[in-house]
Amino acid sequence: MAATKVTIPEYRETALDAIPAICQKVRDTFQTHKTKDAEFRLVQLRKLYWALVDLTPQIKEALRKDLGKSEYETVFTEIDWLKNDCMFQIRHLKNFMKDEKLGSPHVPLTYSFMNYRIKKDPIGAVLIISAYNYPLHLLLSPFVGAIAAGCTAVLKPTEMAPHTAMVAVEILKRLDPDAYAIVNGAIPETTALLDQKWDKILYTGSATVGAIIAKKAAETLTPVCLELGGRNPAFVTKNANIALAARRLLWGKAHNAGQVCMSHNYILVEREVVDSLIAHLNESFREFFPNGAKASPDLSRVVNARHFARLKKMLDNTKGKIVMGGQMDEKELFIEPTAVLVDSMDDSMVQEESFGPIFSIFPVDNLDQALGIANKVHRTPLTLFSFGTKDENNKVLNEMLSGGATINDSFTHGSLGTVPFGGVGDSGWGSYRGKASFDCFTHHRTVAETPAWMEALLRVRYMPYDWAKLRQ
Ligand code: NAD
Repeated sequence: MAATKVTIPEYRETALDAIPAICQKVRDTFQTHKTKDAEFRLVQLRKLYWALVDLTPQIKEALRKDLGKSEYETVFTEIDWLKNDCMFQIRHLKNFMKDEKLGSPHVPLTYSFMNYRIKKDPIGAVLIISAYNYPLHLLLSPFVGAIAAGCTAVLKPTEMAPHTAMVAVEILKRLDPDAYAIVNGAIPETTALLDQKWDKILYTGSATVGAIIAKKAAETLTPVCLELGGRNPAFVTKNANIALAARRLLWGKAHNAGQVCMSHNYILVEREVVDSLIAHLNESFREFFPNGAKASPDLSRVVNARHFARLKKMLDNTKGKIVMGGQMDEKELFIEPTAVLVDSMDDSMVQEESFGPIFSIFPVDNLDQALGIANKVHRTPLTLFSFGTKDENNKVLNEMLSGGATINDSFTHGSLGTVPFGGVGDSGWGSYRGKASFDCFTHHRTVAETPAWMEALLRVRYMPYDWAKLRQ
């Protein structure tokens, strides 16, 4: 199908005084019950799918402008990802929506005539606030879940990817305008949104802002799903395939220029194989970027000058030694994938979330020491990676908790859009993706139905209480 010629307008914040009415409209629409209808949900999901197809050129262009993202990454991690999300919900929606009949072991024989079931109710009008690194994916992927669940929604894209935010506006125009809306802006607009009453808020972003969202939501007892970040460790033991570990870990930091909530912040590596790891990282670097990283069309740029300065400061403050990369160009917001060899867990490269193409390598004596350090740096990171023997990998999983984990690779657990994704503790509350996206915006309501004929049996429960009735 030929793409429609659509010009995406300049980024504009939503007027603050328009926000209450926008939110009221989606709340009122929810009360009409029209979004609960399965056909309505399916039509909206199909419209979203075709909007993504139709606006593919605009999406590619926006992401190139916002993050210097390659078409390759845009297609796989934004457009195709979202199209697959839509297809998954379309395919399984009627099944997800079905009441679940409850039987044994939940319902004992004596209660079995009361027809216990779980009814799947949309939670209501929801707010989705998203981060900048996958600006379309992180905005629309939870939205797919909200549509599938039968909710109405207001979306707040990140202001740091303004071109993508305006493409999202165009996408939303193709869906029901009473049920879904976009509010653009930064802190004032988000604050105005948080002043409204929501039935659920899904927020993706930093832990600092996550705490602000959670605190504000608590005032009105609004449930929240928080998708936050973390200082993710990677463990590499002397028994790992070091060349493989190096290639996979470097990819995890080069992909989207390391602006991935799941990418590793630091590698804890057994001392015997530190030199080998560094040599293999450099070898992989040369393979990935044969003409240098700066010339590569595949390496995204850092999103803006503020984040460039933050990453530069981490490198300026480190007491470690750069052992791979290190080049940067402020004008182009370019930072080479960079590894720093450190020897203290207090180093800025370990303590701060990098969320960029830079990471540290921290030599350790053994896996016990590595786990001790990682648990002290951040007890519940979003992810962890382990490269070792089966027993070593199991030890890592058993002795450190994380939102998700990948063995022998970089974030494969988060590369599949159909399995639950989320943090734990201070790296996130709740999860979404696949069926979890539907569940995230669904209230699972237990319903019981007591037939009239049961009165003969139920008389034992009525006052006046009499043990003798039980024996009759
Ligand atoms: P951010 O917290 O700066 O911004 C996220 C959203 O919050 C934006 O829409 C922004 O407008 C809004 N916001 C910012 N400050 C606010 C305030 N004071 N009050 C109300 N709203 C506010 O996050 P970011 O820089 O876009 O993203 C980077 C962070 O997000 C990293 O920590 C990363 O690990 C995390 N992240 C997590 C996931 C995940 O799925 N767990 C995915 C991507 C990014």
